[in-house]
Amino acid sequence: MITKEVIDSIIEYTASENVKLEETLSGYTTFKIGGPAKCLVEIDTVKQLTDVSQYLKREKIPYYVLGNGSNTLFADEGYDGVVVHLGNKISDIRVEGNLIYAEAGAMLARVSKEAQKASLTGLEFAAGIPGTVGGGVVMNAGAYDGEMKQVVKAVSAVSPEGEFVTLSNEEATFGYRSSLMRHTGYVVTEVVFELQEGNADEILTKMNDFNERRRSKQPLEYPSAGSTFKRPEGYFAGKLIMDAGLRGYTVGGACVSEKHCGFVINKGGATAKDVVTLINDVKAKVKADTGIELEPEIEIIQ
Ligand SMILES: Cc1cc2nc3c(=O)[nH]c(=O)nc-3n(C[C@H](O)[C@H](O)[C@H](O)COP(=O)(O)OP(=O)(O)OC[C@H]3O[C@@H](n4cnc5c(N)ncnc54)[C@H](O)[C@@H]3O)c2cc1C
Repeated sequence: MITKEVIDSIIEYTASENVKLEETLSGYTTFKIGGPAKCLVEIDTVKQLTDVSQYLKREKIPYYVLGNGSNTLFADEGYDGVVVHLGNKISDIRVEGNLIYAEAGAMLARVSKEAQKASLTGLEFAAGIPGTVGGGVVMNAGAYDGEMKQVVKAVSAVSPEGEFVTLSNEEATFGYRSSLMRHTGYVVTEVVFELQEGNADEILTKMNDFNERRRSKQPLEYPSAGSTFKRPEGYFAGKLIMDAGLRGYTVGGACVSEKHCGFVINKGGATAKDVVTLINDVKAKVKADTGIELEPEIEIIQ
């Protein structure tokens, strides 16, 4: 329950203008879907993030840490807890030799650009991923020839027990679109990337090439949360969906993209219910045709 006492405590750790009640979440996700959050708190500093998450953990209050919302589908009914939103204020980036220190709210595209400017190679793959550093490491985001696992040296976080900890790459136990942080409720505050020296022009060319490939193959003109399903081992979700005859398959405002069948897009006015129904229909048809179980990559918060 989000009582007045809870709200007052969150205000104490932040400021009254940072705390919003019954805030509609559709504006905070790239899917443009989602009802109101009981409480949404905008985080301005790492200290606020640490204090608020420690408090919520201690009091066992349901919360959801939201970066850029590019992998998140909130329910039409909204979220009955506290959404901890990392705005662009907790987004400092610092380059030291071949290390980059980036706060959790920094956009991956910016970190990638800073790496390029410093002639550091390794983060080109992240240039077009529309998420934050926090969301990126939690998801072990990846594309083309890279994933976070290859470039993360350390992750600073608040542990499930409320302790401030630093995890090494090994301790973060990255897997395909997964990490220790994703499954056990660590709140990421800062990430250290370790990159290699490279040539700034070559790095830029690679970033531009990756971004051009995205523009030509992905339905970036529509709201979505990127690839809806994980890649089943040995297959491509988009190809399985296309082969199942589901290109353009529509439920309400949600639709399997005709440009890239791996993306569910919001063609206009889609509800979370439309998206979830469509996902279930796609899973059932692919399973019936091939025996393969598709698993959502996106976070569905019901
Ligand atoms: C057009 C498009 C293209 C995409 N392309 C790719 C791609 O190529 N590769 C890829 O891997 N993904 C891709 N994605 C998905 C998405 O961008 C990534 O998963 C990204 O890393 C999510 O970051 P975010 O900040 O938006 O996370 P959110 O959606 O805000 O959150 C995702 C998860 O991370 C958690 N989280 C966020 N911040 C923190 C934090 N500080 N501490 C603890 N937990 C946190 C959330 O609670 C949630 O569980 C794409 C999405 C879109 C819309």
